[in-house]
Amino acid sequence: MNRGVLVLLLVVLPVLAGPVLAGTIDGLRVWPAPDNTRLVFDLDSPSDHSILVLKKPLRIVLDIEDTSLNTDYAELDLSNSGVTRIRSAVRNKTDIRIVLDMSANMLPRSFVLTPNDQYGHRLVLDLERPILGEVIDIPRAEPIVSKSIAQISRQRRDIVVVIDAGHGGEDPGAIGPSKLREKDVVLAIAKEVYRHLTVIEGYQPILVRDGDYIVGLKQRRDLARKKNADLFISIHADAYAKASANGASVYALSNGGVVSAVAKYLADQENSADVIGGINGVSLEDKDEVLKSVLVDLSMTTTLQSSLSVGTIVLNEMGRFAKLHGNRKQIGQANFVVLRAPDVPSILIETGFISNPREERNLGSAAYRKKMGSAISTGIQTYFQRFPPQGSFVAAQQTFSQQPQTRKYTVAKGDTLSGIAGRHGIPLAKLISLNSLRTHAIRVGQVLIVPGVS
Ligand SMILES: [Zn+2]
Repeated sequence: MNRGVLVLLLVVLPVLAGPVLAGTIDGLRVWPAPDNTRLVFDLDSPSDHSILVLKKPLRIVLDIEDTSLNTDYAELDLSNSGVTRIRSAVRNKTDIRIVLDMSANMLPRSFVLTPNDQYGHRLVLDLERPILGEVIDIPRAEPIVSKSIAQISRQRRDIVVVIDAGHGGEDPGAIGPSKLREKDVVLAIAKEVYRHLTVIEGYQPILVRDGDYIVGLKQRRDLARKKNADLFISIHADAYAKASANGASVYALSNGGVVSAVAKYLADQENSADVIGGINGVSLEDKDEVLKSVLVDLSMTTTLQSSLSVGTIVLNEMGRFAKLHGNRKQIGQANFVVLRAPDVPSILIETGFISNPREERNLGSAAYRKKMGSAISTGIQTYFQRFPPQGSFVAAQQTFSQQPQTRKYTVAKGDTLSGIAGRHGIPLAKLISLNSLRTHAIRVGQVLIVPGVS
C-alpha cells in the first residue's frame, strides 16, 4: 500500500465508522421506601451524569452523557415513590435527559456501581425525603444527636450569584448604529440569567438593578460582598471605534501584566460609567490604597483563579451559539473597577459588540437574549457542579453522592469470608474492618455488611 492510499484511509475511516458508539439504559427499577425512593438505572457502560433540582413545579433532572434509552418505563409502578411521572428526551444529540416530576421535595443523591454477579453497570439515584427523616435515618451505635433545623439549613445554604446589568439611568452605556442601548440589552439578559437560576434548587440569584436606574461601580461590587456572593457577574454589550469589531468575550480582573488593547479600551469605557451616570464622590481610579494592596494578596490570587475558571466555562457555553471575539476561547483580563472585589470571584461578560450592525440586530432580539441568558446560567451551574462552595446545597448533593453504599448479606452454608469479599469486589481486610470482625470464623445466618445496593 503506498503512502497516498494510507493517508486517504486514515481520513476516511472515522467517517465510515460513524459516531462513537454511545451507551444505553437497559433497565430501570424503582424502590420506594419510607425515607427514600431508590431508582436504579442499568447501563451497558459507565457514563458521566449530572443532576439538577428544579422548583415550581418540582422536578429532578438527570442528564446522562452519551447514552440513549433502550427500555420502556411507561409501565413502572410509581405509587408511594414521590415521583408522579417520568419523562425523557434526547439532549445535545447524544445525551439523555430524564425528568422526574415530583409530588414531594426530595433531595437527590446519586452514585454509580460497577458490575457484580447479578447486575452490570448501574447508576443509582436516591431521593431522600425531607430533613426530619434523614436525621432519624443515620445508622450508628451512639445515641442520635439531632441537628437543629437552623444547622441543617446552614449546611445547605444557597449559592449566591449577584447579577449586575451594566449602566442604567443617565448612563445608556454603548449605543448601536440603530440606537439600541446597552443598558436595555444587558438588563434583559441579566433578567434571563436570573429567571434560569431562580428555579434551580440551591441557587439564590440577586439582580443589582431590575430597572432603568444607575448604580455606582463601587456599590455594585459592595453589594456582592454584603450578600456574601459566591459569584459576581457583570453583563455588558460594548462598542469599539471600528464597526467591524465583533464577538462575545469574558473578562476577569487583571492584576498587572499584559492586557490587550481592546481589553484596555473596554475597561476604560466601562470604568467611566460613574462619571456618565452622575455618581458623585467616586473617582475613576479608585484611590483606595488598601484595596490596591489586596489585589496582589494571595487571597486575591485564589479568587482570581476562580474567576478565570468560571469565566472560561461561561465563555465556552456562549461559544456554542455566539461568535467569540477574535475566535478565542480564552478569557481576557483588564482593570475593570466593577470587578475589584478581592474576595468574590467576579467576571465581566461582553455579550457582543453593539457597534457592529449584525451583532446589534442579535442583541436586539428577544430570542438571542434568551439564548445568551441560558448559556451564562448553564456555565455558572457547570462551574459550581465542579467546584461547589463548602456548606452549599449543591455540595451536600455531591457529598451524598460519594458516600459508600452498603447492604446486608446473610451468610449461607458453604460461605467463606474470602469468598464473600471476592464476590463483592473488596479485599478481605476491608470486609473484616467493615464488620469489626475479630475472627475469620463465620456462621450460617450471620449478617454481614457488604458494599452494594439492594
Ligand atoms: Zn458596558
